[in-house]
Amino acid sequence: MAKPKRNWIQEERRKTLGDWVAFCLTCGHTLRYFLDDEDELPRACPQCGGELRHRCPSCSAPIASAFAVECEECGAPVRPAELFGTTIRRPGR
Ligand SMILES: [Zn+2]
Ligand SMILES: [Zn+2]
Repeated sequence: MAKPKRNWIQEERRKTLGDWVAFCLTCGHTLRYFLDDEDELPRACPQCGGELRHRCPSCSAPIASAFAVECEECGAPVRPAELFGTTIRRPGR
């Protein structure tokens, strides 16, 4: 069986920094984490004390991208699309 070719640098980064993303709903600060370390995530943003979100509020799927605005699983919005007056856009939509 042939393995899919993957960029090993990206893979290494994922392994080092974490597979999933948590972000602050207030200031947009992001943290990467591993599901194994989920319990150690801070409850509040280390920058501003705001709410830290690390799962979809609708279906509890973990969030894979720091730039996600909607859940990959169910399409529910995971964060406000506007932060600091900048709209996060997805290319091609
Ligand atoms: Zn914050
Ligand atoms: Zn979801």
